[in-house]
Amino acid sequence: MTDSVYEELDVPEVINATGTKTRIGGSLIRPEAADAMRRAAEGFARISDLQARASELIEDVTGAEAGYVASGASACMTLAAAACIAGDDLSAMASLPDTEGLADEIVVPRTHRTGYDHAYRVAGAELVDVGANDAYLGTGSENTELWEIDAAIGEDTAAVAYVQKAYTTPPLDAVVEVAHDNDVPVIVDAAAELPPVENLERFVDLGVDLVAFSGGKAIRGPQTTGILAGREDLIRSAALQHLDMHAAEDAYVPPEGVIDTEELPGVPRQGIGRGMKVGKEELVGMIRALELFVEEDHEARTAEWRARAERIAGELAEEPALSTSVTAAEKTDVAPTVPVTVDENEAPVTTAELVRGLREETPRIFVGADELDEGRFTINPMCLPDEQVEYVLERIRARL
Ligand SMILES: *Cc1c(COP(=O)(O)O)cnc(C)c1O
Repeated sequence: MTDSVYEELDVPEVINATGTKTRIGGSLIRPEAADAMRRAAEGFARISDLQARASELIEDVTGAEAGYVASGASACMTLAAAACIAGDDLSAMASLPDTEGLADEIVVPRTHRTGYDHAYRVAGAELVDVGANDAYLGTGSENTELWEIDAAIGEDTAAVAYVQKAYTTPPLDAVVEVAHDNDVPVIVDAAAELPPVENLERFVDLGVDLVAFSGGKAIRGPQTTGILAGREDLIRSAALQHLDMHAAEDAYVPPEGVIDTEELPGVPRQGIGRGMKVGKEELVGMIRALELFVEEDHEARTAEWRARAERIAGELAEEPALSTSVTAAEKTDVAPTVPVTVDENEAPVTTAELVRGLREETPRIFVGADELDEGRFTINPMCLPDEQVEYVLERIRARL
């Protein structure tokens, strides 16, 4: 916990007890991937050739026709929307985010609306949300009926968007069926749905047209990478709207697997995704990290997380003011987490004060703060190495 580069820069270091949260840097990049990035920095390769190589690997691990890497799952979602709106039309690509005259609506079940869907609007999409939030009433009614999705699809529809979580409804296979009956593609935001590793293939198997995963969460690649997997024509469109484009026509020979120049009337302009570029280092790091992620012993890793979670839950439960449990991995997180309930009559501080106080330690400690209003914080073992556990436990005890 000393002589880190953060300390050298006089930036407070953070101990991550909350999982793969972007605002504190996502996950720990795999050392092999970091090493590959350093080596990538020693020379050059054409970005489109690296994308072609990444596509091969993504095809291999997802079963999709093609794959692509952009600067995060969010960037992949923007490219997915851009691909569904513009297709293979270069002038449409050049006009985005202006969508005048283009089918630009993305239909989304209302309860799937999240802050991340801004990524679709960046490409010019208009979100059309359907359904209600009736499950909230507890009457047994559904949030979104399939007929509502069907009814919302029309001439102006570019895609249907879906957020994958263990608890999302309606079921994805049924949504895919409705969309495909209407000849409309389905985009899935599965940014944080790894592990289980089986999810890499699951969405493609279900017939989803494009699916986005974060490269910087459990895959442990560079934070500024995301994977888009799916239909070849849509991935080509995404590539055309992302790669650095301007070149003399005679010198424009991108790899065929990524861009088919035969099909193009000329050299495209820089597209909507140009600001979401990935460098050669990120591409190489992503490829290495994804290879290692699929090879990993997932059962052993989950067992390690569980053992760490149980140790934390057990030790904190000894504090009179705290009660703990260990959640099943399925609930919301991909790793088992430890919800810690603070008895505010017993503790000298409120839950919020405790959580804020931990953030002021040196190094800072970030625990999960999504349930403060219920007097609860959470500890997630994913990004918390065993050797940092004692420090976290000790600082929590010291504040009680
Ligand atoms: C993390 C996340 C994203 C964004 O992923 P990045 O790789 O950080 O761009 C999008 N959607 C959901 C549901 C996420 O959890």
